[in-house]
Amino acid sequence: MQMKIAIEEDVETIPLKCTCGKIQGIAKNITPKAGNHIVCMCVDCQAFAHYLGKSKESLDENGGTHIFQITPKQVEVTVGREHLKCMQMSPKGLKRWYADCCKMPIANTLSFKISFVGLFTTFIDFENTELSKDELLGPIICRGMGKYGKGKLPDDTHQKFPIILIFKMIKTILIGKVIKSYLPNTFFNKETGNAITKEIILSKKEREKLKDKMVL
Ligand SMILES: [Zn+2]
Ligand SMILES: [Zn+2]
Repeated sequence: MQMKIAIEEDVETIPLKCTCGKIQGIAKNITPKAGNHIVCMCVDCQAFAHYLGKSKESLDENGGTHIFQITPKQVEVTVGREHLKCMQMSPKGLKRWYADCCKMPIANTLSFKISFVGLFTTFIDFENTELSKDELLGPIICRGMGKYGKGKLPDDTHQKFPIILIFKMIKTILIGKVIKSYLPNTFFNKETGNAITKEIILSKKEREKLKDKMVL
């Protein structure tokens, strides 16, 4: 029995690593049920990949970004936190984290007490996990914002995001307020509630320029 518990703990904690290895971390309690494995094709996610100069590496053939939505307490950057940068497409936009060292996208967050982390699955070091991506994250449960998708979209693609997924996220955030699943929080300072690094906020002009560069 004890053996079984040990194995289960083992497979649930998985390594995270940026392309160059300066940023490393762990994701805890990773099972298909512990998060939402989704693809987002929205303009801002695509623009973020272009902002980093990583559209080829980060976007799939439909312009989709692959994300595993979890809570802050499940993610910890253990090495190289000083290389984390945070940008926003607009003052109220998602806080989008990336590796300044190699420009790998890391995660999307909202604010300190909102239990939401959209972990970019490319940040997961699948080469050093015992289980495959499918076994760890489960199948993609939702492809959303297909109205901005490119090429031939899979049949199950949604134009926006289905209400059921939005409810699921709201539920996690509401429960998160009670059980404080935003703690510990690797992206925000617990004392001040601020992001650990000053956000780079794009101006309207910069945002337009970036979107002009994208072929939608
Ligand atoms: Zn998006
Ligand atoms: Zn790096």
